[in-house]
Amino acid sequence: MPTDDRLELPSYLHHTPDVATRVAELRERPVVMNIANLGRCYESAQGKVTALQAVDFEVRQREFISVIGPSGCGKSTLIRILAGLETPSSGAVHIDRQTVTGPGADRGMVFQGYTLFPWLTVKKNVMFGLKMKGIKKAKAEQQAMEWLDLVGLTEFAHHYPAQLSGGMKQRVAIARALANEPRILLMDEPFGALDAQTRASMQAHLLKIWERVDVTILFITHDLDEAIYLSDRVVVLGANPGRVLEVIDVPVARSRNPEQFLSGHFLATKKRLEQLINHRETELKPGAGSITSVAA
Ligand code: ADP
Ligand code: MG
Repeated sequence: MPTDDRLELPSYLHHTPDVATRVAELRERPVVMNIANLGRCYESAQGKVTALQAVDFEVRQREFISVIGPSGCGKSTLIRILAGLETPSSGAVHIDRQTVTGPGADRGMVFQGYTLFPWLTVKKNVMFGLKMKGIKKAKAEQQAMEWLDLVGLTEFAHHYPAQLSGGMKQRVAIARALANEPRILLMDEPFGALDAQTRASMQAHLLKIWERVDVTILFITHDLDEAIYLSDRVVVLGANPGRVLEVIDVPVARSRNPEQFLSGHFLATKKRLEQLINHRETELKPGAGSITSVAA
């Protein structure tokens, strides 16, 4: 058996023609969200913590972008700022060129913890935002049922959250967020509390939903496979200070399927993410992780 080091992997920077076409096409799309020189410091008993420093990247229309990094590197701080739940110490976030100053209907949120209203049925949870927007009851009901159909929960419309499994609760949370028709869906480790099998099925499900709905997704995870499997691009954050180490165009063709987990391009990307996250400073230069080097 060859050792891992002798496995002939392609470079994670190498793109097959279909991937290259998609990457080029994505770069042409309008920018939905612009994150410009974002910084966030906290004062703590131990002194100043720089949770984020000079974070800079753009998210394009209908892109699926993941942010990955070790625990404590500032992922949740970043997504809270994007959601408008927290203010940055420096820099700014723009959505469709408007500066974010607080929460807004243009952004939907799905968190790891289950955030459904326990006293409302599944259908009423999905209807909640629609009624807040002033949509009439019959219309809101009809729209809620359409979103529940999309996430495969039509039969559970009259159940209460406590009667659902963890995966089902997250599907309701996704339906509820999408019902408000956000420009961008912000997801903070939404499958982090699920068992491996449920998590895998939720990933496949999310990709199907994203193919059918006109929405851009920014997804936070610390799971390398999950980031690669779902995303067009992966933003890798390092810790102390939380900063962007590299933004990787995922060299795996769409549509995605679980067999790709073992493909050379997938494994090469995973190896690169591991290097970045384990902080081997000598290897942080883009391209350093590739066995077959490609001029970048
Ligand atoms: P992640 O989600 O990547 O695990 P967080 O964004 O939760 O990271 O935290 C990043 C850093 O900022 C950590 O060192 C954390 O302790 C610190 N931090 C986050 N929120 C606060 C806060 N409200 N007050 C003080 N420190 C905070
Ligand atoms: Mg977090």
